[in-house]
Amino acid sequence: MKFGAAFETAVILSATPSWAEEYFEPMDKMHLTSAEREWIHKYAPLAFDWVEEAEANTLTVGRKLSDAEIELAKSLSVKNPERIRVLVTSDFPVPSNKDLYTAFQNHGFVFADSAGMTLGHAVFIKPEHEDDIQLLAHEFAHVAQAEAHGLRSFLVSYLAGLKMYGYMDSPLESEARAKAWRSANGTD
Ligand SMILES: [Zn+2]
Repeated sequence: MKFGAAFETAVILSATPSWAEEYFEPMDKMHLTSAEREWIHKYAPLAFDWVEEAEANTLTVGRKLSDAEIELAKSLSVKNPERIRVLVTSDFPVPSNKDLYTAFQNHGFVFADSAGMTLGHAVFIKPEHEDDIQLLAHEFAHVAQAEAHGLRSFLVSYLAGLKMYGYMDSPLESEARAKAWRSANGTD
């Protein structure tokens, strides 16, 4: 409806940019529209608060990596493998903010379907996937991405990829999948 669309545009233009703005520049090649930027402004701070809290809670209870896992993490460019904690659980943390939860789900990031998930240096693995080295490598690739970008910048890039391409085709997921595949198949 025309009137509704005009109203929506007015709302978007009046919203205050969040701290996410300073991380947009490296993504200029993605040609984000103002609506996509606004979406990121809304969700990046919510995602950061959620990830920071869930990571802190997990780092105190998760297990440290074995020597072999430390070597695996290093091979995937993790700088601080000693900071990683793994929690094997069927009960992954989900955002308490309903809008954020729905935003992830709507872009293909289905929490219930995840075999593994990484929040900063906290790695979550479902019990039935505990021995899946390629999955662990995939999650370590995400640790390396967050270390390389910094958590805020990583989340802005991750959300941009999610918004523009959906979960499966988002650049940071594609990179993690490719790295894990090469790691498991010995071509790296
Ligand atoms: Zn992933």
